[in-house]
Amino acid sequence: MPSPRWSVVALGLLLLAACSHASSERPAGSLRIVASTTTLASIARGAAGAGPDIRSLVPIGVSPEDFQPSPDTIAALRDADVLVENGAQMEAWLEPTIRNAGNPRLHVVVCTDGLPVVDGNPHLWMDPEFARRYAGKIRDAIVNVDVAHAAAYRAAADAFDRQLVALTARTRAKIATIPPARRTMIVFHNAFDYYARRFGLRIVGAIEPTAGAEPNPAHIADLVRLARAEHVPAVFAEHEYSDKLARTLAESAGGLKVAFLYDDSLGTGAGVDTYVGMIDTDTDTIVSALR
Ligand SMILES: [Zn+2]
Repeated sequence: MPSPRWSVVALGLLLLAACSHASSERPAGSLRIVASTTTLASIARGAAGAGPDIRSLVPIGVSPEDFQPSPDTIAALRDADVLVENGAQMEAWLEPTIRNAGNPRLHVVVCTDGLPVVDGNPHLWMDPEFARRYAGKIRDAIVNVDVAHAAAYRAAADAFDRQLVALTARTRAKIATIPPARRTMIVFHNAFDYYARRFGLRIVGAIEPTAGAEPNPAHIADLVRLARAEHVPAVFAEHEYSDKLARTLAESAGGLKVAFLYDDSLGTGAGVDTYVGMIDTDTDTIVSALR
């Protein structure tokens, strides 16, 4: 069986043969930004404004932690001016894909570079204060790449920064309505650690301790004990994954609530199709499940 890396190389060669002329069709002046995920694409849209073409490599509803790149992924990287990636080992598939795309004019923004990554957890964007830092890095990169439109990018980034400041304040106010003893969660995977630290929630456990790895029955039994001991009001599943384990856990722990959160990917409905909307929706879900 060929290794995944060799399949990617083969795809790259196929694409090179099929669409070597594609990049010449790009209209002059339109900056092309690709982000690894829909969530980062939304932050990039906030930072860059309406001008650039912005798309995500990982489709909506798919986890960046177990994504398999396709010929479309390589083609998007070949045509892009700027790549926005999270870093902190979230997109393990990205580095060989960038090599295969062979685009010498691609500027790569690694959003978590220089930020305080704790225990290798890559989900810093879930804290709006870190999302502000992501947006600032994206702004700095595109201002360098497309100097002619620098003023418009700075204006867009300033407006977005004000939205994120307001988001932090609004989230803090909503979480403050949960009685302190009930600010305790069990989550699906470690996506909410930075959010919880920022807003004073306590995460006592995750159903999948390692992203993409099926937990064993002993781990679920431990979570049931923890949920009872810590009086956890609710278990949080995620829209992209089966809620089977969350429901089993919630039932075994004495009939806890089960609610659904967004994190690695935006949703498709109105209100969850932007980063700010996603955080607002998650906060409302958390408040109504815990209060
Ligand atoms: Zn994740």
